[in-house]
Amino acid sequence: MNLCDLGTIKQIMAAHGLTFRKEFGQNFLTRRTVVEDIADNCCDDENSTILEIGPGIGALTQELALRFRRVIALEIDRGLIPVLHGTLAEYDNIELHNGDVMETDLAELLAPAFAEGKVSVCANLPYYITTPILMKLLESGLPFDSITVMVQAEVAARLTAAAGSGDYGAITAVLGYYGRAERLFTVSAGNFVPPPKVNSAGVRIDLWKERPWQPWSEEIFFRTVKAAFEQRRKTLVNALSSGFSELGKEAITEAVTACGHRPDIRGEKLDVAQFVALSDRLYDLRAGK
Ligand code: SAM
Repeated sequence: MNLCDLGTIKQIMAAHGLTFRKEFGQNFLTRRTVVEDIADNCCDDENSTILEIGPGIGALTQELALRFRRVIALEIDRGLIPVLHGTLAEYDNIELHNGDVMETDLAELLAPAFAEGKVSVCANLPYYITTPILMKLLESGLPFDSITVMVQAEVAARLTAAAGSGDYGAITAVLGYYGRAERLFTVSAGNFVPPPKVNSAGVRIDLWKERPWQPWSEEIFFRTVKAAFEQRRKTLVNALSSGFSELGKEAITEAVTACGHRPDIRGEKLDVAQFVALSDRLYDLRAGK
């Protein structure tokens, strides 16, 4: 059964009395080659377990099951579970769970998979909750090998932006802290049912095996990044003066210039390494050093 065929998708949904649920971001892929491309590009090791968030009716799940040792699929919509039991019946390497990824204890869910080998994530993400899901995966501290997601094209541009460019923001710097993000391909809205309002793009994040940076305090690092982008139009010094009001503008100016930046630089010019260096300086200042 071709789960990307528009007629088949509509027939399956109707047979189960289901409609596409907007509140769950249900835009299903209708182009087989796109599904194959995501599955082909999400992981380099066929012995891996793949966590798929939001299998829908199982189009990508099938392709993942054909390529990798095991697939753990987590779907929030209870109505899709009987559908998936049917469409995935012939695969014995798929574990299906009904639940909200934001409420799921991923460490517990994936403990056996991590005990057996590598784990990667692959998902055509629901757009309403893309960033929270990505942040949950990254902040979980779980040693995922890679995370490949289909997201809105403009989000993909932000995730993969170079420092100094207009798309570069707090999420780019935070993502760069955890891994290296690469844009894979663009997929136009017409390849989904129902079609979303915007185009999409695939992004693959390879998590650092050994993180190239070790800030003295992660908390201060993330606070520095957040403060730097909270008021984008302001200079870095002014933005940090609001975000670290306990330090005072003079000390912050000194910290920024001591890191080799002009006092009127804006936050979007700094790459991850430069944010780490600056956050260490701010850490010292707070410690009274
Ligand atoms: N994988 C299918 C495809 O590519 O055609 C469906 C992708 S659709 C964009 C997003 C899927 O995520 C839907 O099946 C939706 O029900 C599910 N979903 C939405 N929010 C979720 C959540 N918080 N946890 C788990 N699944 C979720």
